[in-house]
Amino acid sequence: MNDELERKLQEEFLFMKQTRDPKDTSVYRTYGCECSGGWYEIIHDCCRAVSDENDKVGIPVDFIPEQIKEKFGTLRFYYDFEDAPLAIHAFDCIGGDSLRFVPGSDNDDDEKKAFRQRIAEIVHNAEAKSTSVCEFCGEKGIIRKDLCWIKTLCDEHYKKMRMG
Ligand SMILES: [Zn+2]
Repeated sequence: MNDELERKLQEEFLFMKQTRDPKDTSVYRTYGCECSGGWYEIIHDCCRAVSDENDKVGIPVDFIPEQIKEKFGTLRFYYDFEDAPLAIHAFDCIGGDSLRFVPGSDNDDDEKKAFRQRIAEIVHNAEAKSTSVCEFCGEKGIIRKDLCWIKTLCDEHYKKMRMG
């Protein structure tokens, strides 16, 4: 994503702060959002919802963005909680199916489990939304499977990509 959008995200949300340090364990903190700017609103709204959810229950944000990227034409937003890092976030299968893991701790009480479930839903909804939003411009898009890469694009960007 372009520098201005990356900067806006970091200014609004402390937990989205990047380090740009290759040694950082978070791919996101090292490389930022590995997708195009058309999905900025989706990512922004997801962060807003995570932040609001924390405010609502009075839990300080312990959400760590691990990797934000485009994969098989849709948004992937991998995250951990500070006390519950995941070793693996997903197994991707040929054809685009993906087995996902949701972070959480065995020590979570019911309240914390429910909270983490709501965070998982917020992130899931953001990812699902990306299947109908052009990754390049944010207009209404659909998943295009007849290009060199699977991409979610509006008609205009689809035409441009087809013409090469
Ligand atoms: Zn577009």
